[in-house]
Amino acid sequence: MAKKHCPNCGGELNVHPSDAIITCSYCGTSFTPEGSEMKEHYALQVNYTERDALDTLKAYLVKVPGVDNELAQKISLADLSMTYYPYWVYTVQGDVSYRGIDRKASFRGQSGGRYNSIHWEWVAESGHQEQTRQIRLYAGPKVRGEIQNYPIATRSRRFFNLEEAKEHTANVLFSKVSEDAARQQAIATTRNLIYSRISRETERVEDARETFNVTDHAYIHVPIYHIRFNVGGGGKAYEAAIDASNGRVLYSEIPRTTGFKMKTIGSAIIWFAIMGFGAIMTYLAYEGFSILPIPGIDPQFLFYAGIGLTIIPAALGIMTLFLGFRGVTAERAK
Ligand SMILES: [Zn+2]
Repeated sequence: MAKKHCPNCGGELNVHPSDAIITCSYCGTSFTPEGSEMKEHYALQVNYTERDALDTLKAYLVKVPGVDNELAQKISLADLSMTYYPYWVYTVQGDVSYRGIDRKASFRGQSGGRYNSIHWEWVAESGHQEQTRQIRLYAGPKVRGEIQNYPIATRSRRFFNLEEAKEHTANVLFSKVSEDAARQQAIATTRNLIYSRISRETERVEDARETFNVTDHAYIHVPIYHIRFNVGGGGKAYEAAIDASNGRVLYSEIPRTTGFKMKTIGSAIIWFAIMGFGAIMTYLAYEGFSILPIPGIDPQFLFYAGIGLTIIPAALGIMTLFLGFRGVTAERAK
């Protein structure tokens, strides 16, 4: 940790060497370690109160399979805090004109509905690809994937307001990615998208002229609630995160009832028993015996049916266990 002074108010701040954009906790100004101010600093508005966030979480969890219907009454809050996560959002307009060659097949010597030879030749190709992309990059310290890959909503952005962050005693995280690095990454991502399109049309690009323009860019903080809760007076704590601007559940650990877990194990055992039956059936059919006391069934049929009865229930058993014991759930985009 090193000390830096805010170029606007002179306030002293603790800064980590990896911080690329620092936000002053006294006046809200954002600046680079070299001291140049960042004007395009936005935040999403806090539209959900702590109470709203908890209600949203309850309403969401009740619909998750295996969660107690009475969860809303049994939940108790252990901890609730807010963090502002930093993202870069770049709109990049890319334009690539290219010349290349492509392999084209021609068929020759048709006789009796058949071609005698396929002839390949290289054909000159040229084209143009134009795309505008909005690239979002998480810029803060390493966090859970749900936050790193969060497709943030950018429409409701406003200039960053320190008072709002203070009102929620929020922790404002600093960007580890500089404006220049973010810009380069956004252009590289757009370029890759355009070239993957081109590669579908041309086998080899021999010459290209490209231009990339950044039409809009912003540094945006997204306020996210972190909730820790207990259920029914139990000691186990569950964690969840809710977007404070739109109420989306980024993730939540799932408090499943014991009854549901027992049922899950029960169904998995049934699937694995069927799998065992299928395996024995396959083995016996292979040896020339039938597992079924019905005469006249083709052993080959029993063999293949046995394989199906082994693989399918095995997959269903594994899926049942996976879905029944999966620890975390996330809300899909609305
Ligand atoms: Zn300041």
